[in-house]
Amino acid sequence: MSEVDFIIRGATVVLPDRLAQLDVALAGGKIVAIGHGLSASSEIDAAGQYLLPGAIDAHVHYNEPGRTDWEGWATGSLASAAGGATCVFEMPLNANPPTLDRPSFELKRAAAEKSSVLDFALWGGLTPLNLGKMSELAECGVIGFKAFMSSSGTDDFPRADRRVLREGMAIAAKLALPVAVHAEDEATVAKLATEAIASGRYGVRDYLASHPIAAELAAIREACDIAGETGCRLHIVHVSCGEGLAEIAEAKRRGVDVTVETCPHYLLLTAEDVERIGAAAKCAPPLRSEAMRADMVDRVLRGDVDTIGTDHSPCPPAMKEGDDFFAVWGGIMGAQQFLPSLFSVGLDPSQVAHLASSAVAGRFGLAGRKGAITMGADADLVLVDPRRTAACRAADLLTRHPISPYAGRTFPASVTAVWVRGEPAWSADRGRGSSRGRLIRPSV
Ligand SMILES: [Zn+2]
Repeated sequence: MSEVDFIIRGATVVLPDRLAQLDVALAGGKIVAIGHGLSASSEIDAAGQYLLPGAIDAHVHYNEPGRTDWEGWATGSLASAAGGATCVFEMPLNANPPTLDRPSFELKRAAAEKSSVLDFALWGGLTPLNLGKMSELAECGVIGFKAFMSSSGTDDFPRADRRVLREGMAIAAKLALPVAVHAEDEATVAKLATEAIASGRYGVRDYLASHPIAAELAAIREACDIAGETGCRLHIVHVSCGEGLAEIAEAKRRGVDVTVETCPHYLLLTAEDVERIGAAAKCAPPLRSEAMRADMVDRVLRGDVDTIGTDHSPCPPAMKEGDDFFAVWGGIMGAQQFLPSLFSVGLDPSQVAHLASSAVAGRFGLAGRKGAITMGADADLVLVDPRRTAACRAADLLTRHPISPYAGRTFPASVTAVWVRGEPAWSADRGRGSSRGRLIRPSV
């Protein structure tokens, strides 16, 4: 065994198959021993806390380069670290240029290497503009390709219609990379939005009504059908409703290689909250009714969801203002509350580790390196203290703009320390640490 750098002593360690009070030794950025009574010259007393594999948040938007005034890698990754993440997958849109080819990939990679405190993978785009560039993005090391079935909200990232999606999925299947889709049916959403706006109805309820469950279900069905036809690995992001999960479960039974992500906000917040909170709680698909939220939590607890990611999607405050709820930016900033929010909906530590970390690593080709507390894995670790509540206060937000739909809410557990390959990324006592993020490529 190489010389140990330090030991995290006495935490309740969330192992892949059980919880156990153990010591974990780190050296050279790896986990080098897990056991009782380990010794080293430096140690951290973690008794009473859970030690989990760091969350791998497969869904963040940091908007750099090009829209760094919306968030940026420095503030975004630090907020994610404080939420318990050690690795993030950054989406190909909302930065400028969007990640559609090698030059744009390299620009984003350089920005991330300069400022990210977390390891990172990059999604490439699947749009009508860049089908011919998907193989070069694969060479660059993208984690997969992201497509929008409805309008993305930015003109530089056009949506994929059925033909483009089919062609893109066929290419992705050959490249052995997954495709993630934002699944809402454009025809339905655009028609309802146009009708509402034309008749002067711009309110919160009008917006919510323009994104019905039927639009989500139709798109999920179409994406699953195309994935089945092309043999593409499909990951449907931010599913908002139990009916959507049931649709995906049915596709799985038919043999489609599909997994599903939901986000903490669909488990914690409702349409009533959007009316109360306003634009900070606007997202697409939108927040649903209380009954549907409760149903989503039940289904997550039952194992109907494969992964959870935050879809951290920030913007400047001015873009969240105005009376026209269709026009204000849709996107929820939730990276900093990631793991505390999951503990608050009743998931146990093993379920949190699975949904936010191990299952993500497994789906995206990082297993063995990340996503589990095992010998030889990267020492990507997070301590969560279940005796210490976490209040979400605007003054404590590490994001560029202190906007959160959770402001004023208190979570039942708090993240106290985070290490990326053994380097401190963030801690409750000391704030930002010394970690520097690296590009993570999938094993395909
Ligand atoms: Zn997103």
